[in-house]
Amino acid sequence: MPGFVALTGPPAVGKTTLAAKLAAVHGAQVFRLREFAHDVRHRIDVDPALFATEDPLGWLPDRTVRVLLDSALGGRGRNGVTVLENLPGTIIQLRTISEIGRRLGLPVVVIELTASDAIVIGRSLVRRVCPACEPDLDADPHRPARAAAADSSTCATCGNPLRRRRCDGTARYELKLRRFRSRIPGIRREAATLDLPYQAVNATASPDDCLRRVVAALRSTQILPCLPADLPSALNGATP
Ligand SMILES: [Zn+2]
Repeated sequence: MPGFVALTGPPAVGKTTLAAKLAAVHGAQVFRLREFAHDVRHRIDVDPALFATEDPLGWLPDRTVRVLLDSALGGRGRNGVTVLENLPGTIIQLRTISEIGRRLGLPVVVIELTASDAIVIGRSLVRRVCPACEPDLDADPHRPARAAAADSSTCATCGNPLRRRRCDGTARYELKLRRFRSRIPGIRREAATLDLPYQAVNATASPDDCLRRVVAALRSTQILPCLPADLPSALNGATP
């Protein structure tokens, strides 16, 4: 059945890549709060105070996130699976998502991608963005650039030089990682309190391995049966 997959995990663990694969292979829709907020805040009828934040990482207050999610998710989820990329970041955000799911009569599953600090710090050091293909270089989540096969420093799409994101600077990255590590135990406990399915998925190996593990985890919940099977096996008539 349709529903919401809340996809969380430490920064640079591979959430954006996984969400893109769930979209490409399984037809999921991907919702990115930061992109939605960016679109909404430029509308003429929106109170700018809604977007005021004193958070050092620029996170929006939970009450603002609630307004945005209420407005964004009402029309989603009914037609299939919606991946909420990089959510929840707080216990309150998880409560909000759970309430919206209940109101819409749609299941919510939390997937936490896991990897050690050494792994995710290593990934943060090598990830790059393309200034030409990515309009907002510090948006979070971002869309990782694909390096050209022949030259890892240029973009496979447009050929421009890739560069490191400013927000992957070491101090800022470490702040994001520390915040994630300090908050995730409370989020796990809250998921149990709310009786939401919660699956921790090891994301240490390749992105394809991570996708397989997440799909297996989702199959064990009520969410996945509505995702179309892998295209090749569907075409072959094979049972997944
Ligand atoms: Zn590019």
